[in-house]
Amino acid sequence: MTVNRRDLLVRGSATAAALAAGSAATTAQAQQPPTQWHHTVDVVVIGSGACGLPAAIVAKEAGSSVIVVEAQPHVGGHARVSGGNMPLGGGTSVQKRYNIADSADLVFQDLTDWSVVQPNGFPDYRYNDREIIRAFADNCTATFEFLREHGVVFVDKPPDRQGGSSVGNSVLRTMHCAPMDWPLIQTGAPATPNQRTTMSTGNGLMQPLDAAARKVGVEYLLEHRMTGIYREEPTAGRVVGVAVDHNGTKLNIRARKAVIIATGGSSGNVNFRRMFDPRLTEEYQQACAPYADQDASGELAAMDVGASLWATAIQTTETGSAITKTRHIGCRWGYATLVYQPESPMFHLAKATGLTVADWQDVIFVNQAGRRFWNEADGSYKFFAAAMAYSGDPGKLNGGGPIWAMKGWPAGVTFDQTITLNTVDEHIEFSPFTRPDWRIEVQDVVEVANCVVVRAHAGGTVTQDEQGRPWNPHGEEIAAEDGTGQ
Ligand SMILES: Cc1cc2nc3c(=O)[nH]c(=O)nc-3n(C[C@H](O)[C@H](O)[C@H](O)COP(=O)(O)OP(=O)(O)OC[C@H]3O[C@@H](n4cnc5c(N)ncnc54)[C@H](O)[C@@H]3O)c2cc1C
Repeated sequence: MTVNRRDLLVRGSATAAALAAGSAATTAQAQQPPTQWHHTVDVVVIGSGACGLPAAIVAKEAGSSVIVVEAQPHVGGHARVSGGNMPLGGGTSVQKRYNIADSADLVFQDLTDWSVVQPNGFPDYRYNDREIIRAFADNCTATFEFLREHGVVFVDKPPDRQGGSSVGNSVLRTMHCAPMDWPLIQTGAPATPNQRTTMSTGNGLMQPLDAAARKVGVEYLLEHRMTGIYREEPTAGRVVGVAVDHNGTKLNIRARKAVIIATGGSSGNVNFRRMFDPRLTEEYQQACAPYADQDASGELAAMDVGASLWATAIQTTETGSAITKTRHIGCRWGYATLVYQPESPMFHLAKATGLTVADWQDVIFVNQAGRRFWNEADGSYKFFAAAMAYSGDPGKLNGGGPIWAMKGWPAGVTFDQTITLNTVDEHIEFSPFTRPDWRIEVQDVVEVANCVVVRAHAGGTVTQDEQGRPWNPHGEEIAAEDGTGQ
């Protein structure tokens, strides 16, 4: 199989990074190839997410033997827990069915023309690598059809613009992956009969791709974490394989043809992301961690053998949901779509079902110093700038958070606890955005944050004991560090 850069972008996410021999830079970290290989295969794919699985299937169907190494004990990465909204256009069969005229050139233009502003207000052209976007545009339609041919069922309705960040705005493109009969990761059970063909879920993308990969004979090595990449010389010659760690055992996998890095990104690596935005200290979470890694291991391993990185600007684009105001509070992640029921295989990671904010006007956000810092209803990057600003603590110059969501419940949820506010009450500014009838007497901010960690449904009551300690649905107390509102 001949591997070139564009081939490796075909049918995969634009976040795919491929290593070809010949990069010039050098680092001190690179290593000599080992003398012992524990596995030998044509193509090693690192990561089993949205990028890795299509790459593995394509390579296998082209006649190569393929191993996917996955750090986690499960397949699917972030993609499996994603919303499953799929902005692929360029003239797909579904666009044609609904008489939507689209083309690869129009996709390319939407994502590179300076005058085109996305529905989220962001002009993509500034940060997009035009070579990658050209490859994406040219293969958009083929990718969509590839997914259908490999078992992904899309909700049977016209394309729309919902759920995507960079979808282009000339024509409607976004399609939605239906869960069908796969068990939902949020509940551990199949969707309801009504939802199985109508809701959008990353499960509906990754479960069929997982099944397709296994069917064509892709081999998985789960709980195998890539720890390094080998070239013939530390930073020269062909890429020849990878080092992995399997629960403490070090193994080497030889790749006769290619190593494909599909490790999902870097936003979970504090030091790495602080290269781009120094405010992103350890308090701020990566959505889904530790279910899927985004620890920059792919980027670092690539740089160690001489690769350069382009287009890593996501943390600094200041638009969309690169940094997110947590709409879902009282559990580990802030996404309203990351709500996990106790039956979910991920519940032990999410820690609690949490509460979804119905209206930002019903919430007061205070920072770690107990100060209300901005208009809660503002979703702009002014909010994030205020949220991550210096709290005034001379002992903590960096790091503004966590930000505690003090009060405010979805309609119908009651909260009866009497809370006593001590030294921080002078910092709470009441404004039209807060409710004058609220009685806020807080023992301390941390305790209030704990109170948010509950299982509650609209119409129910917050679950806590007489000391205000939060419980999980199994009646176990939830530890403070697991239950912040951030
Ligand atoms: C809540 C949520 C909702 C989203 N909704 C949408 C949506 O609706 N539409 C959309 O287009 N995008 C959505 N996204 C974004 C989308 O999920 C990601 O862009 C996509 O999954 C990226 O694919 P990937 O293959 O690069 O990474 P991932 O899908 O995360 O896969 C990377 C895999 O690599 C593994 N890995 C990492 N490091 C190593 C290592 N060293 N060794 C071995 N394995 C490793 C990880 O464990 C993971 O399984 C959403 C994301 C989230 C978190």
